[in-house]
Amino acid sequence: MRDRADLVIIGGGIIGLSLAYHLARMGFTEVAVLEQGYMCFGASGRNGGGVRQQWTTEENIRLMKDSVRMFRAMAAETGYNIWFRQGGYLFLARDEETAGYLERSIKVQNKVGVPTKLIQPNKAKKIVPGLNIDGVKVCAYNSTDGVLFPWPALWGMAKVAQDLGVEVNTFTRVTDIERQGREIVKVITDRGSIATNRVVNAAGAWSVQIGKMLGVELPNKPYRHEILVCEPVKPFLNPMVSDLSDGTYFSQTMRGEILGGISDPLEPSSMETKASFRFLNRMCRSMVRLMPELSHVRVMRQWAGYYDETPDGHPIIGRVDEVDGFIQLHGFGGHGFMMAPAVGKMAAEWLLRKTDHNWFSKYDLGRFARGEVEKETFVIG
Ligand SMILES: Cc1cc2nc3c(=O)[nH]c(=O)nc-3n(C[C@H](O)[C@H](O)[C@H](O)COP(=O)(O)OP(=O)(O)OC[C@H]3O[C@@H](n4cnc5c(N)ncnc54)[C@H](O)[C@@H]3O)c2cc1C
Repeated sequence: MRDRADLVIIGGGIIGLSLAYHLARMGFTEVAVLEQGYMCFGASGRNGGGVRQQWTTEENIRLMKDSVRMFRAMAAETGYNIWFRQGGYLFLARDEETAGYLERSIKVQNKVGVPTKLIQPNKAKKIVPGLNIDGVKVCAYNSTDGVLFPWPALWGMAKVAQDLGVEVNTFTRVTDIERQGREIVKVITDRGSIATNRVVNAAGAWSVQIGKMLGVELPNKPYRHEILVCEPVKPFLNPMVSDLSDGTYFSQTMRGEILGGISDPLEPSSMETKASFRFLNRMCRSMVRLMPELSHVRVMRQWAGYYDETPDGHPIIGRVDEVDGFIQLHGFGGHGFMMAPAVGKMAAEWLLRKTDHNWFSKYDLGRFARGEVEKETFVIG
């Protein structure tokens, strides 16, 4: 492991690796990525692989258009097939309030060039044969959203960054960070230390612990989010289906498995990753209600990862007041994977002072103290 770096990225999840990948492609390679476990150990190796452009604000929709463009090119650019399949996303609304909310969001999406349509339930049934539309008022469907297999996206980004000169160290846990006054001097790990003045906190659900090492208090909270996968069946399900009344979502992988999760309003904040019977029960009931024929399909496995949540549902990115060179890049809740390509590129441009993206002042940690908080509402799962 190197003993000096211009930049140390803590966290080898999709966010840290996407930043490393884009920095390397822009020619900045004096970078060390430190990951405490194996690659895919965190949320990035445990998620549903959903990629949607159906958001409520213009900036998130534009960001996700960029991400989709990058996911489409990723296999060719990295040499790793990420199995990105644009089968669409279908949201179901069961009450007037949600229906109105979909309608308003679609107007913004269309304005930005995302072709989402508000469709009647019987049309949705044509797109998803076997869908139970009882009680569904209206649906939002965008055929250009999709799903992917997360692991090769991490492998590919890490490989390209490494080939260009970035050091990616797995099984290397950061135990402390030393500073002199406002300046960072050294990152200490269980495999030795690295002298540096700049550190990116991309540690996902562990970011609060990294912040503490430098005396920076972060408001993020980790929540267990569970997910399951059923045995493979012949491909029949094109879009990701998501019921907004209870946050159920499921899609079919390119191997034929049905994969999905559900929100749980009773889940407390914790660093728990055990699988629960409560989830299995709620998820199976919800899937079978939405698609009765799924009652014949057996569950193969269930697991859990963390949603790294912030008080307003937006990430925390950019500088902090207390320490120079301590950059935040975390708090991506249940949507960090889909945003990672565009966020990593934006962060690389901002760090190298190529473009001054306003995201890094708008979504910095200081917004909570300034009271400049606007809650994101389109949060699924
Ligand atoms: C079940 C589930 C389903 C999801 N579904 C979707 C989805 O469909 N679409 C989507 O876009 N998002 C989804 N998400 C969210 C998405 O997975 C996350 O937002 C994203 O992976 C966050 O990436 P990250 O790099 O910030 O965090 P992580 O992937 O968690 O990476 C952070 C890394 O930091 C490392 N680390 C922590 N502390 C240290 C330390 N002291 N030293 C060294 N390394 C350290 C950790 O080991 C970890 O690997 C889902 C999440 C879960 C759990």
